Amino acid sequence: MIYKRSSALFVEAKKYIPGGVNSPVRAFKAVGGDPIFVKKAKGAYLYDVDGNKLIDYIASWGPLILGHAYEPVINAVIERAKKGTSFGMPTEIETELAKLAVSMVPNIDKIRFVNSGTEACMSAVRLARGYTGKDKIIKFAGCYHGHSDSFLIQAGSGAVTFGSPNSPGVTQGTAKDTLLAGYNDLESVRELTVANKGEIAAVIIEPVAGNMGCIIPQEDFIKGLRALCTQENILLIFDEVMTGFRLGKGGAQEALGIAADIVTFGKVIGGGLPVGAFAAREDIMDHLAPDGPVYQAGTLSGNPLAMSAGLAMLTELDKNPGIFRSLAEKTSYLHEGLEDVLVKNDIPHQINRFGSMVSIHFTDEPVIDFKTSAKGNNDTFKKYFHGMLDHGIYLPPSAFESYFLNDALSYADLDKTILTLQHIAADLK
Ligand code: PMP
Repeated sequence: MIYKRSSALFVEAKKYIPGGVNSPVRAFKAVGGDPIFVKKAKGAYLYDVDGNKLIDYIASWGPLILGHAYEPVINAVIERAKKGTSFGMPTEIETELAKLAVSMVPNIDKIRFVNSGTEACMSAVRLARGYTGKDKIIKFAGCYHGHSDSFLIQAGSGAVTFGSPNSPGVTQGTAKDTLLAGYNDLESVRELTVANKGEIAAVIIEPVAGNMGCIIPQEDFIKGLRALCTQENILLIFDEVMTGFRLGKGGAQEALGIAADIVTFGKVIGGGLPVGAFAAREDIMDHLAPDGPVYQAGTLSGNPLAMSAGLAMLTELDKNPGIFRSLAEKTSYLHEGLEDVLVKNDIPHQINRFGSMVSIHFTDEPVIDFKTSAKGNNDTFKKYFHGMLDHGIYLPPSAFESYFLNDALSYADLDKTILTLQHIAADLK
């Protein structure tokens, strides 16, 4: 495929935007080459500025679970825009979306809307600190919770792709309050709770991790984590920015059968517009301003366009929960197809999948945490990424990301993807 115009636009973008992009992973640094500039998208397909058509396995990093330009969402936004785009005053639609979200997700009574997943996680931690009166938090190596200072400690996703899991600009003072544990390693959490007894406000976790590729929590680990948090009076924050309204109506809490104390959302909840949210039971949420002392605010929070997109999206998922099953079945079909090709071609690999989240690591060893994820062969990954892209398959441009399937993908698209891997497999060795 030819990407001449994309490359020219990238040269121009780099003159005015750092690295030519507004979010690092878009720049293709981990895989080399120039990023693709998209012109429009519909259903499962992206159409770029050079006239190429690509099958999309990113779906804007998760939000577009029903495919691009999904009519009910688009129509809701258009109709809403005609009535004004922002007021900085309460609107009825905020309550409608809040009511629907609370009805779909277990263990939450109230929800506050923000503009991104970063804001959601940052605010959830402040709330946990304000509620418990404690300062420290535990996060897991390789988990990503947005780019707020407290989380850029051994962070996953773009932070690790670019070799800066600990970013300059985060002060020592902030870093000392973030304690680091190993994913699927309950003992490492227990040790931290012993060494910092009575000082830990919250444990924040991606309940199914997607920012070191897809990593599944072992049952003993996640159950043990819940029990340990309860025992030590620590709030358990599930960062469901990826998993929320994707692994099922009730997200990972429902899929894993584990209750969290605070839940954060992003991506699907905004239907492709900038929305994040955090939610908890009433006694925790009532600590927030204006009723409580923990401050949190936003000029564009609850923005009517964003709320209308979110409401249209969640309404579809609420009335048709079969979507989650259909997506998981498609993902499983893709998983099996890709696995089959890799096995037949003797290419060392691990495919981790949970519902509609899936990723490939090119390694022999089971991938259960950041260390094992980092053992994946990046040369093979680069060849895989570019080989697939050359045939019109658009995958995440880093091994430290999950794929996000959308329900507009057809079985013919999945077959084409599997056949493409078969076609390029010999080059991956
Ligand atoms: N948490 C998780 C689990 C995420 O995957 C992301 C983004 N990929 C974030 C938080 C941050 O969300 P945003 O990029 O909207 O700030």
